[in-house]
Amino acid sequence: MQIPRKQINISELFVSIQGEGKYLGHPSIFIRTSGCNLKCRWGQTKCDTPYTSWDPESNPVTIKRIIDNVKNLSQKYPEINELILTGGEPMIQKNLHLLIDEIKMLNYFITLETNGTSAKHLNLDFISISPKLKSSTPVESNFEKMHEEKRYNKEALLFWLDNYDCQLKFVVNVPEDELEILNLLSDLNYNSPDTIYLMPQGIDSKQLKENSKLCVDICLSHGWNVSPRAHIDIFGNIRGK
Ligand code: SF4
Repeated sequence: MQIPRKQINISELFVSIQGEGKYLGHPSIFIRTSGCNLKCRWGQTKCDTPYTSWDPESNPVTIKRIIDNVKNLSQKYPEINELILTGGEPMIQKNLHLLIDEIKMLNYFITLETNGTSAKHLNLDFISISPKLKSSTPVESNFEKMHEEKRYNKEALLFWLDNYDCQLKFVVNVPEDELEILNLLSDLNYNSPDTIYLMPQGIDSKQLKENSKLCVDICLSHGWNVSPRAHIDIFGNIRGK
C-alpha cells in the first residue's frame, strides 16, 4: 500500500495560536489525533479534550487527505511555518512517522505534544511533554489502575530529553503536585528549570485563575515558568481553537 493511503485517526485540523509553553502565541497549524492511552480526570473535570480521550472519535483519514488539508491551509496562511501534532496522544497512532515525514517535506517546524508515556525516533523539531501527575488519576473509575500504571514512563521521558529539544509542562491542580514534580525531576536527574512550565488545571477562566496562583507560588520557589493556557482564556474550552 502506498504511504499516502495509510490512515491516521484524526479529530480535527485547524489554525490557531499555540496557547501554552515556550512557543506561546505562535500562529500554528494543529493536527489533533484521536485516542489516548490515559484517561485524565481532576476531581470532576475530565481532560480538556474528552472527544480525543474519554470518548474518542474514530475518524480514520488517509495521510494524503491530511496533507491536502495542510496544503490548503498553507495557501490560506502562507506566513505560518509551525505545525503542532497534538491529541489525544499522537504517539499511539501507528502511522504517525509516515505523516511526520510527509509534513517535513512541506518545511514546517514540527512540535509533538505528548504525555511522554512512549517514545521513538521521529523527524521532529520540538517535543512538548506533559507527564501526568497523580492528581490526574480518575479515582474510582474503570480506568484508575490503567492510568496509574501507565502515566509515568521514565525510560520514554529520558529518551525524549536525551535526544530532542524538549519542554516539560505539568498540569497543576493541588499543592501536592509540587513534591511529585520535584521527585520526578530528581528521578530523571533533570535540572533545566528554564524548560519547565507549570500550567493551571482548568477548562474555564475562573478555574485557570485560581490554579494559576498555585503555579506562581511553586514556580517562584524553583525558578520554573508559569504558562497560561491562552487558547482557553481567549476562546473558552471549545473545539478547533
Ligand atoms: S494525556 Fe492529555 S489527551 Fe490524554 S487524557 Fe490526559 S489530558 Fe487528555
